[in-house]
Amino acid sequence: MTTNENTQKVVVITGASSGIGEATARLLAQKGLRVVLGARRTDRLEAISSEIREKGGVAEYHALDVTNLDEMQAFVEFAENKFGRLDVVVNNAGLMPLAKLEALKIDEWNRMIDVNIRGVLHGIAAALPIFKQQQSGQFVNISSIGGHIVYPTAAVYCATKFAVWAISEGLRQESTDIRVTIISPGVTQSELASTTTDAEAAQWLEEFRGAVIPPDAIARAIAFAIEQPEDVDVNEIIVRPVGQLS
Ligand code: NDP
Repeated sequence: MTTNENTQKVVVITGASSGIGEATARLLAQKGLRVVLGARRTDRLEAISSEIREKGGVAEYHALDVTNLDEMQAFVEFAENKFGRLDVVVNNAGLMPLAKLEALKIDEWNRMIDVNIRGVLHGIAAALPIFKQQQSGQFVNISSIGGHIVYPTAAVYCATKFAVWAISEGLRQESTDIRVTIISPGVTQSELASTTTDAEAAQWLEEFRGAVIPPDAIARAIAFAIEQPEDVDVNEIIVRPVGQLS
């Protein structure tokens, strides 16, 4: 792939309506890549896509609930039909409703499993046949520091992020022509903390989220992994704010 083709890659991004996904869409488009934004809040996607286009970027959007395989397949097909190719899937959508296990917030456990794990698997299921057929492609899967360390109140969230790490590493080991990158952010400014409903966990989270970096810092790590030559697979990048000690 030439440098010119490299900068015109088609990148689909799940969870692009806020936070890391939104920042990634904006940065990649600014660099000349063609981005397709997916999430449930299409009003936000429409506004972000218009702003990208006003600045000269190429952006499309499509409604997406990552828990639904049919919607994920439609999302990926939409990108392929629109641009005639697919180069990168950024599996970013996620949520983090923290609480001790004893609080038995079973609906929230299931929701995290559905979005954080099944959503990533659905992204892989939708794009892997295309990548295999064209013998190229890249998955950028968003794990977390919580994919390396377990914190109290975060057992299920960390389990989902350990799973994203394991799935990504397994896929990498199975692949001779597909690149797989894990991005593990530390505390990053976004709407993620607002998904916690448990008062005790929310208080812990507020203290834990002392040092924070903007989502653009994670977007830059994602761009770095995509921009490497085709024979280079950046396996994982961990990005913490200075001062986040664990
Ligand atoms: P935000 O809450 O700002 O963004 C989450 C995104 O996920 C939103 O765009 C939301 O869109 C989308 N989303 C949630 N559920 C679904 C769904 N069912 N289908 C499609 N999209 C969905 O948080 P972040 O930007 O921080 O989160 C992005 C990723 O980064 C997550 O995987 C998170 O776990 C990870 N991460 C974040 C860290 C942080 O400190 N912020 C640290 C480590 C990892 P909508 O509601 O419109 O569908």
